[in-house]
Amino acid sequence: MPRIPVAAPNLGEEEAEAARRVILSGWVTQGPEVAAFEKEFAAYVGAAHACAVSNCTTALHLALMAVGVGEGDEVITVSHSFIATANAIVYCRAKPVFVDIGEGGFNIDPELVEAAITPRTKAILCVHQLGMPCDLATLVAIGRRHGIPVIEDAACAIGSEIEWDGSWQKIGRPHGDIAGFSFHPRKVITTGDGGMLTTNNPRYDEKFRLWRQHGMTVPDSVRHSSAQVVFETYEEVGYNYRMTDMQAAVGRVQLQRLPGIVAARRRLAGLYGDLLARVAGVAAPSEANWARSNWQSYCVTLARDIDQREIMQAMLDAGIATRRGIMNSHLERPYAGDGYRLPRSEAAQAHSVILPLYDRMPEEDVEAVVNALDNAIRATRPKLRASA
Ligand SMILES: *Cc1c(COP(=O)(O)O)cnc(C)c1O
Repeated sequence: MPRIPVAAPNLGEEEAEAARRVILSGWVTQGPEVAAFEKEFAAYVGAAHACAVSNCTTALHLALMAVGVGEGDEVITVSHSFIATANAIVYCRAKPVFVDIGEGGFNIDPELVEAAITPRTKAILCVHQLGMPCDLATLVAIGRRHGIPVIEDAACAIGSEIEWDGSWQKIGRPHGDIAGFSFHPRKVITTGDGGMLTTNNPRYDEKFRLWRQHGMTVPDSVRHSSAQVVFETYEEVGYNYRMTDMQAAVGRVQLQRLPGIVAARRRLAGLYGDLLARVAGVAAPSEANWARSNWQSYCVTLARDIDQREIMQAMLDAGIATRRGIMNSHLERPYAGDGYRLPRSEAAQAHSVILPLYDRMPEEDVEAVVNALDNAIRATRPKLRASA
């Protein structure tokens, strides 16, 4: 195990106690804790509705279904994302239409979105990659102009903010039509696995609740509390995308911790930025003036003459875990046949590195990471020059 991990969830006695309380209560799935978590989550992001599901991939599947994505439709999205973004589109038997990311970041280029719209485009699925808000104002304007719904893959973006109508608002309000969040341990707060859908459209929220529980017209919570005998019906094919009450109880504690977690991440990201300004060959990530990241990941871009793998190996040898920049779905087997060329996405995968960042990371470790990165670059660069 490296001395400095790339990420570490903040889980403690309070979460363990919350799960214990639920287990001993006897109501362990989609019950009162799930309902409370939904309410608290909706209040936190400022959404009218929040619906808990099993993870963010299932959240995106239901979001796409809700806006009517089906067989043969096209959904415009990025390849440069975790593969679940593209897979959720395929679950609807629709086709992901990949566009490249913009200059100087890892998010979708809105200009390319407009150019990719066809009569078959049923949705825009944008991603707030690594927690950094994408250009929602432009994307939502494009969507409105063409009558195309905007779904936000906010898997990484709980606690991130965007300037909207002159005030700072949480991602997930949502600014598009629906947003989906993840509570996987790699994200900023965790329930082990878990997801959340937010929307201001009550019809979408009703559909989510129907589909997450097998298409059952009367949920368990209603049947259990009814003084009359009620028989449910099943009007359409649904799924089992439920969240358990153990997860929701943990999520409620995590939500309490979230402001502190985001504040700590922002402080450490600021420190990284200051220290990296003195390291040659590395570009630090930056926020647009309308965006505030939760810094779910801190991803730097290396100069083209620096070997990504060599740097990552040197850092691992120094006891520091890193990860390669975000993957590209169009380079993986399920999507490789479509002939995409996305130069900025490909460059981002090949030349960027995710550095360790988690809320309880000591500042000395940020310094140690930057020093190790600087040393690794200095050690490999002269060799490259000599062989050139
Ligand atoms: C993690 C992630 C997902 C998938 O979330 P799960 O909860 O693991 O299903 C989807 N999209 C992005 C951008 C992610 O980072």
